[in-house]
Amino acid sequence: TPLTVAIAQGRAGAKGILVKSGDVFEYLARPGVIWLDKTGTLTEGRMHLIEFFGDTTVAPAIEALERQIVHPIAEALVRDLAVPADERISATRVTDVETLPGIGVQGWIDGERISVGSSQMIAEANLFIGESLEHRLAVLIEAGDTAVVIARQSEVAAVCSLGDRVRIDAKQTIASLEEQGWTVGILSGDHQQAALRIGQAIGIAPQRILGGLSPEDKLRQIQKSNPSQTVVMVGDGVNDSAALAAASVGIAVKGGAEVSLKAASVYLNRPGTLPILEIITGSRKTVRAIR
Ligand code: ADP
Ligand code: MG
Repeated sequence: TPLTVAIAQGRAGAKGILVKSGDVFEYLARPGVIWLDKTGTLTEGRMHLIEFFGDTTVAPAIEALERQIVHPIAEALVRDLAVPADERISATRVTDVETLPGIGVQGWIDGERISVGSSQMIAEANLFIGESLEHRLAVLIEAGDTAVVIARQSEVAAVCSLGDRVRIDAKQTIASLEEQGWTVGILSGDHQQAALRIGQAIGIAPQRILGGLSPEDKLRQIQKSNPSQTVVMVGDGVNDSAALAAASVGIAVKGGAEVSLKAASVYLNRPGTLPILEIITGSRKTVRAIR
């Protein structure tokens, strides 16, 4: 009944869980598939720079470009490259900034094109990478951290890696979801090794850990699921928006991009993965009360 749903929405709201539509409870009461984004959803989304190899004179350009971007990687690079104030490039010299969702960012500084992004950027932007940096990049990727390449014009000038912490409650949440009959997987824009390292640490089956995905790949994965089954997407990024909108239930997490909040039917206004579990348990109770 509408009243029961309204009461359930109120209860969820009191726990910081905003439920935008009533059918959310019906969907979440029946276990199906739940796909989770990695960066910012299963991890804290507070990245830090681990290693940097190559031409350090490109640092002010990276900093100037990433200063314009809202993304955990951008935040980490601006903070940890720690470019001294007198070396900083003013924002007015940075033009034509373009984000390539799931890949990285490009812009022009003093007539030079600067690209910062995943190793897929090399193919995407037709970049040249020398042997020594190529080797370094392979080692960083193998280590399972988030590897990022930096190019000036069409040549890779540096490579670096960033790390993030797994959310403290993620392992427990995954275990509880599986106990309740949900099939849990990861959809990540980060490369496969990084997705695997985080996923295996929290007990997700390797065959359901999918990395290197574009925003369209995430969407396709949602569309591929069995239409008779509930498919839930949990994410925080611009790159998750299409998948959030296509899922039976899209859940946007705190701290995420504005567009992800708009695309989702549930918004978690509390950090961590525990609220995911709460809304699912709450839905079962609500639907039982209705019947
Ligand atoms: P996820 O799906 O894990 O949340 P994203 O799709 O946001 O990740 O990003 C995928 C990959 O694209 C990142 O791992 C990174 O390599 C690259 N990337 C995205 N945004 C940026 C950025 N602002 N600067 C550098 N690299 C970026
Ligand atoms: Mg994300």
